[in-house]
Amino acid sequence: MLTESDVLGGLRELAVVFRPPNGRDDLDRLARVYRRALEDVDPFEFRAAVEDYLATGQRFWPPPSKLRTAVDKHRHQNPRAIKTLPLAVQYGRWQGSGDLANDPCPVCGAKLEEEDYKRRPQIYHDHQVHYDAGVGYAGQP
Ligand SMILES: [Zn+2]
Repeated sequence: MLTESDVLGGLRELAVVFRPPNGRDDLDRLARVYRRALEDVDPFEFRAAVEDYLATGQRFWPPPSKLRTAVDKHRHQNPRAIKTLPLAVQYGRWQGSGDLANDPCPVCGAKLEEEDYKRRPQIYHDHQVHYDAGVGYAGQP
């Protein structure tokens, strides 16, 4: 998830080109506000949004909504961009997506298995693959 320090890094880059609303000494306070407004955004997506904003001939300092628009555009244009995110982030999204029945685990490729009608479906993760990747998992090894 996005931290204030992620946001501050991006705002400092923007401040090289644009004038922040209350001057350059106020970036810490802005970082808190922007982090709250964009808290569901991934640090990688935030970086991409900042770069996109810098590259698209904008004239003014972006409010959070402009960066949100850049994030949405990035997500829309790169539906597979999620594949380039770190495995831990992919796992977190997969775990929270409610799509466990359709998509395999992004770390080890395990799928939901329905063994017999009496037991709840299970996902049997490959413990070694998760251990090597440094990404924990919930459920059965
Ligand atoms: Zn797995």
